Amino acid sequence: MQTSPAPSTASLMPVAQRPDVVFVRGEGAYLFDSRGRRYLDWVQGWAVNCLGHAPAAVARALATQAETLINPSPAFYNGPSIELADLLTRHSCFDHVFFGSSGAEANEGAIKLARKWGRLHKEGAFEIITFANGFHGRTLATMSASGKPGWDSLFAPQVPGFPKAVLNDLDSVRRLINGNTVAIMLEPVQGEAGVIPASPEFMAGLRSLCDRHGLLLILDEVQTGCGRTGTLFAYEQYGIEPDIMTLGKGLGGGIPLSALLAKESCSCFAPGDQGGTYCGNPLVCAAGVAVINSLLADGFLEASRDAGQQLADGLKAVSEEFALGEVRGKGLLLALELGRELGPEIVSRARDAGLLLNAPRPHCLRFMPALNTTPAEIQEGIQVLRRIVREVLDGTAVSSSGPVAP
Ligand SMILES: *Cc1c(COP(=O)(O)O)cnc(C)c1O
Repeated sequence: MQTSPAPSTASLMPVAQRPDVVFVRGEGAYLFDSRGRRYLDWVQGWAVNCLGHAPAAVARALATQAETLINPSPAFYNGPSIELADLLTRHSCFDHVFFGSSGAEANEGAIKLARKWGRLHKEGAFEIITFANGFHGRTLATMSASGKPGWDSLFAPQVPGFPKAVLNDLDSVRRLINGNTVAIMLEPVQGEAGVIPASPEFMAGLRSLCDRHGLLLILDEVQTGCGRTGTLFAYEQYGIEPDIMTLGKGLGGGIPLSALLAKESCSCFAPGDQGGTYCGNPLVCAAGVAVINSLLADGFLEASRDAGQQLADGLKAVSEEFALGEVRGKGLLLALELGRELGPEIVSRARDAGLLLNAPRPHCLRFMPALNTTPAEIQEGIQVLRRIVREVLDGTAVSSSGPVAP
């Protein structure tokens, strides 16, 4: 009998540089590879697994919903999408929700909504002021809205209408406002740029600029939303209310689900303006309901704030011990500035030692553990990080013990 050869990675488009590891199982804070090695995961699917790997609440919701109703089509109402929209509007300043499958799709929706509103109320104004080093996704419009170096020419021509200001520089925003401006769009904490928070004064300044000029304030909370920064949404910590907000990543706890939320005053889509085959299907919305209810459970966000403080303190101690740079961020979205381009080497050595990290820029590390991580897990991760930083700075070989077997 003929057996087919084992499938190889050669059939996948090489869109990312991936290490030679295949993950087969996840449980809470840990991932397991095909050789049975265990890794403490501080990437968590790129900050999507807010409840950790394979959380029981999401697994149960998916299993029950999969046996009940997966997709009646976006042309019909379904229970879980109604329930999730109700949860989100009751716990935010928004009135209406549109569901998508990715952060980029939610941001596309936000851009379209702002342009429609500009057509209705501002004589066709369409420009959305965005920010250098911002990140909003990988579709053509969201790449154009992003300020990632090099992206302006990668798939040229860009989608027009996204002038770039500088984060935390109100004058740079003011200078870009003209008769074509309809909105200002930003991440409360620039994630991919290396975890750079907007300052409270800057955010307040943007809100009053928007009020003065009749512009919409759009917050991309794809990364900062759903408890990541210690409150359900990051805008709550700024004492302002945006007009439009987008969610993704944590919203589905690892399941592809995103949302566009708007206040009634700018929620101007009419039937036919926006949609998508998978939008708001009950399977993913059931996962979203399980996630939001978990985040809202008594003491959950408080415990995640404590975990964030413990992690920040641990990172500060490492930084002091090895004379590295600042620790910044909010909640469990933190970064350690290295002061030199050691990020990729630390990430690679930490992985060999059983700790998964991310270096969004070569000079810094980003930390995004599950929001329900325990004090013992944080201590474990900090210990591994300390050892690896010392090894890298000493230029010594990585310990050969490798990741811990379960
Ligand atoms: C990840 C991210 C996106 C894109 O989300 P996708 O689901 O990858 O499309 C958009 N904005 C921000 C702030 C993000 O962090």
